[in-house]
Amino acid sequence: MTANAMTTNNRDRAILPGATLGVLGSGQLGRMFATAAARLGYRVHVFSPDSQSPTGQVAPQETVADYGDSDAIAKFAKAVDVVTFEFENVPALATEVASRYTPVRPSGQVLFTTQDRLREKRFLQSIGIPCTPFASVTTAEELQAAVPQIGAPAVLKTAAWGYDGKGQAKFNSPEEAAGAWKQLDEQPAVCEGWVDYQCELSVLVARSTTGEIAIYGPIANHHENHILDVSIFPAPELDPVAAEAGEIGRTIVESLEVVGIVCVEFFLTTEGRLLVNEIAPRPHNSGHLTIDACATSQFEQQVRAICGLPLGSTEPFSPSAMVNLLGEVWQSGEPDWQAAMSDPSVRLHLYGKAEARLGRKMGHLTVLAESGVEAARLARSARESLVSKAESGKWKAD
Ligand code: AMP
Repeated sequence: MTANAMTTNNRDRAILPGATLGVLGSGQLGRMFATAAARLGYRVHVFSPDSQSPTGQVAPQETVADYGDSDAIAKFAKAVDVVTFEFENVPALATEVASRYTPVRPSGQVLFTTQDRLREKRFLQSIGIPCTPFASVTTAEELQAAVPQIGAPAVLKTAAWGYDGKGQAKFNSPEEAAGAWKQLDEQPAVCEGWVDYQCELSVLVARSTTGEIAIYGPIANHHENHILDVSIFPAPELDPVAAEAGEIGRTIVESLEVVGIVCVEFFLTTEGRLLVNEIAPRPHNSGHLTIDACATSQFEQQVRAICGLPLGSTEPFSPSAMVNLLGEVWQSGEPDWQAAMSDPSVRLHLYGKAEARLGRKMGHLTVLAESGVEAARLARSARESLVSKAESGKWKAD
């Protein structure tokens, strides 16, 4: 498609099976997106700086180039019918260049807002969504002012590039605040009050080109060392806040005019209040169980939303749970796949990553069962069986 051919009309037209979907980023989210897109008859063209990537292994077309290479981005955008992403830290220039030639969904503006924790929290505040108490920290003076305002314990999080607890330093008393900021190399940060929560949860909200909305969740999430460990859906204990969480998600995607899918992560405080922790404008680890447990997975929903197709049902067929498989599972050798899969209810998903490193997401297991609690028990047990029977082998270090 040429730039001249990109009239408003054909930007609004549905993108039908047979078309080529461009994805920026090449991790496991892109891999599962490409698999869902292929099932619907689309082709996927992936763009990222990495070769042999989880997405590149399954996408029929691949461009390996830097996100800052505007010529490569332009060539890629001209070769696809729409661009989406699975990785939100794409430079604004890349989405700006791509949008000259083809629709970018969600838009660069959505990326811009959610790439930076401070911008994201200010946006949430501006639309009246409750989030964790926060203050901006870019100088020693701002840190000094933030500490009495936020109190302790609190956590400093780098404004940009944070995920899975990376770029975070907790402090328990005001005296420790300066040391915590030093740990982050005094980068621009958000100082956030430490939340005394009863649980963490997420909703996934898809919004299509027509404004149609579909909501999954809430999904109950358990983290270990700041990394998602187990997700359960549905989680009946979240029923009292389900409608409110869904409405918050809807308000966010409508205010941002998202076309695509967004994950909103929350804390449910011990007093029963919902506070938004963060938002991600793409499918999310906590939604992986939708592949096996729902009529429409979060990845298929992303395809439908960006292509302007009607959205699919988000209803689960059955309660389910997902456990992550981090690099630790490989620590004593090749995991015992047969042991885990001897329970026929266990579904294995591996991301095609060659190197198992500590904390690296290598795959996940999903189990469908009578209840979410039972599914989580079976999924955890299957994960344990991967390790306990593993032959001893050499741990691959970084
Ligand atoms: P994040 O990268 O902000 O999603 O943080 C990762 C995890 O760290 C969260 O899912 C929580 O388990 C924990 N965490 C982050 N911020 C806070 C906070 N303000 N209070 C309590 N726990 C937090």
